[in-house]
Amino acid sequence: TVRTRFAPSPTGFMHLGGVRTALYAYLFAKQNNGQFILRIEDTDQERFVPGATEVIYDTLRACGLNWDEGPDVGGPCGPYIQSQRKDTYLPYAKQLVESGHAYYCFCSKEEIDARKKAVEDAGGTWKYDKHCLSLTKEEVQQKLDAGIPWTIRMNAPTEGETSYTDAVFGEMTFQNSEAMDDMVLIKQDGMPTYNFANVIDDHLMGITHVMRGMEYLSSTPRYNYLYTALGWDIPTYIHLPTVMRDATHKLSKRDGDAYYSDYIGKGFLTEALINYLALVGWNPGTDQEFFTLPELVDAFDIHRINKSPGIFDVNKLEWMNTQYVAKMDFDKYLAMATPWFDKVLAGKNVDYRRLAELMQSRTDIFSRIPEKIAFLAELPDYDTAIFFNKKQKSDEAVAKEVLPQLIPVLDGISDWTEANIHDVVMEKIQAWERKTGSVLWPMRIAISGQESTPGGAFEIAYLLGKDETLRRMQASLA
Ligand code: GLU
Repeated sequence: TVRTRFAPSPTGFMHLGGVRTALYAYLFAKQNNGQFILRIEDTDQERFVPGATEVIYDTLRACGLNWDEGPDVGGPCGPYIQSQRKDTYLPYAKQLVESGHAYYCFCSKEEIDARKKAVEDAGGTWKYDKHCLSLTKEEVQQKLDAGIPWTIRMNAPTEGETSYTDAVFGEMTFQNSEAMDDMVLIKQDGMPTYNFANVIDDHLMGITHVMRGMEYLSSTPRYNYLYTALGWDIPTYIHLPTVMRDATHKLSKRDGDAYYSDYIGKGFLTEALINYLALVGWNPGTDQEFFTLPELVDAFDIHRINKSPGIFDVNKLEWMNTQYVAKMDFDKYLAMATPWFDKVLAGKNVDYRRLAELMQSRTDIFSRIPEKIAFLAELPDYDTAIFFNKKQKSDEAVAKEVLPQLIPVLDGISDWTEANIHDVVMEKIQAWERKTGSVLWPMRIAISGQESTPGGAFEIAYLLGKDETLRRMQASLA
């Protein structure tokens, strides 16, 4: 059976590229009735950021990418947090020492730094120089007995090449002299390095398909060397193209466009983001653009993953988000919009339900709601030239006639409902034998200060309330 995993290092927020990796790994597992596993790769304690693990859990859950095995849900291969598996790795490292694929190293950091400096000063590139490989078994034992701090390093081949087939990138070949070095497998603190633990755990957890970013393409020869040395099967590799902002720019932390939370904070819907992310780097081969998660499970096809970088076009995402917002359940919309309404209308006693009805089809991303409804909180300065509208037969002169007539009419409405405002005003318009637009256009301008508003004159008047409507009407006469 297919077993995939998402193996993030908890170093901060969830990058969109990481979310997409998790999504693809989830989709591939589910469409094969397999298991999707979450494993936290936190053996590099220096890079550990408190709270980052919770961000991973929360993000995956919000996206519906529920893991079958992993931290807090458990499973037969647990624990799924590498720092809790510390004792698992050393026996395998010792086995590799026995077979000659690894060796103890007693070089101190100072010694290594000095040799490194000498190489670099001479214009070379440093790689660990196999210094300790020449120690005899007895010398090693003496140093171990003497308690000298040690690491275990991989004894990498210096010649030849390594080839493997990647499901997306095809046949990959690397020169061992370039792709490999005697990387540390077990550190002085007894912790495995990320590179070592990754291989051991993928094997022990029965991972059949390794999906991860293409930046790992060139590390893969080292992993293959370890699998082979341990006599284990090499998993199928599915490396994924980088998620980019455009052809030359990566998504960046500094520009605030790299993390999942950046988008949720701006008011994108998770469903829209997941739908769009699925299409960044993969295409369904049809015109279909809208997919629920279960639909993605059916449609996803690893053969349609692109090799070229996936361009994350935020305009496209906005377009997609607008469609999702328009279709979402009204009460859910109201709940999500409320904090954004509050940003400008808190304490103003505005009918949020009615406002939400008017705003739902006009919302692209939630963070733009405040600017769209700011006129309800405060009448913006406006140019009286906007009273002119040829089609509505309105201009400033018309407004000067109509608005003073409207004020007592509105003032006479005791029950300030949208229907009453409508009926009373429409009746007067007929009595006055005026064109509807020539009254409603100036009225709406006077109370909103802008040409385009969510809803017409009656809706705006209702939302503002009677006092504020009259106050704005009066102000327009000044
Ligand atoms: N821990 C690695 C990362 O955070 C995972 C790489 C892999 O999936 O093998 O990118």
